[in-house]
Amino acid sequence: MTDCIDRTGLRPRFWETVPLNRMTQPEWEALCDGCGKCCLNKLEDEETGEIALTRVACRLLDDSSCRCAQYPIRHQFVPECIVLKPDTLDQHMTWIPATCAYRLLYEGRRLYDWHPLISGDPETVHAAGVSMRGRTVPEFEVPEDDWEDHLIEEPT
Ligand code: SF4
Ligand code: SF4
Repeated sequence: MTDCIDRTGLRPRFWETVPLNRMTQPEWEALCDGCGKCCLNKLEDEETGEIALTRVACRLLDDSSCRCAQYPIRHQFVPECIVLKPDTLDQHMTWIPATCAYRLLYEGRRLYDWHPLISGDPETVHAAGVSMRGRTVPEFEVPEDDWEDHLIEEPT
């Protein structure tokens, strides 16, 4: 399948040498592995603040491609969609998925071999079983009161 993310013209293995806040915008975008896990709705326990993941996906997530259907203009439809930036990454560490490349690099860890930047193939994230492709239900099919019936463990 074609890679929805343009990973051409990037510095060789930039993720190993360039700090997050020094990457170009295309390099920053190329860090995304396409797992779709950040596009899932989450539930927060009011008492403990603990965040639980559901398989109820944002209305713009295309379950078959595992990509945002309107990424460049998504905020017209989903104004609350969070834009990850190097200087605010720390604010999102409570919910960013365990395998997300932004978390891994923020924590000084390496990308997994299945990351498209390493494998050269956008399919490997799905073959490794860490993505949400084919595993979500759209939020317009599930009332918010019922999201707790769709709690999942993050596939890692
Ligand atoms: S969790 Fe991270 S790697 Fe996965 S789709 Fe979201 S931003 Fe990309
Ligand atoms: S708007 Fe797009 S990128 Fe944002 S959460 Fe929804 S599907 Fe994901």
